[in-house]
Amino acid sequence: MNLTHLRRLVIIAVENTMETMSDQSCVFCSIAAKDTPAEFVYQDDNVVAIKDANPQAPVHILLIPRVHDLESLNDASKLDVSMLGHLLYTAAKVANLLDIAETGYRVVINTGDVAGQSVAHLHVHVLGGRKLAWPPG
Ligand code: AMP
Ligand code: ZN
Repeated sequence: MNLTHLRRLVIIAVENTMETMSDQSCVFCSIAAKDTPAEFVYQDDNVVAIKDANPQAPVHILLIPRVHDLESLNDASKLDVSMLGHLLYTAAKVANLLDIAETGYRVVINTGDVAGQSVAHLHVHVLGGRKLAWPPG
């Protein structure tokens, strides 16, 4: 195998990986790519945080991994532990940024039909700014 052939194989492998990293029909991939507008409150290399379009509390933020890797928490493996930890860390960071850390907030990951998950790209809700009932509905 010569160098040109090897280079072509590497390019194909990278393109295939890129395709699995984002799903063109996924609204959260589109938001992360800034193709669909959203109100960003925070972003870093791995995660974007936006205001939920249908807020259930005065503060309702969605934390969305940039990569379309896990459709739900059910897909998580040991390889995802660092990303999952980063999501929780970011939830606390965003709560601080938006001034709800002291009064309190709730972090939610709806998983599957029974929980009402409506977007198949892992995401974390951060809710606050009002008294939140328990048990949840
Ligand atoms: P879940 O029901 O847990 O899957 O949460 C999906 C959330 O995404 C819902 O709270 C929706 O209001 C929210 N959502 C859907 N599309 C958008 C969008 N384009 N911008 C902001 N939030 C959205
Ligand atoms: Zn996606």
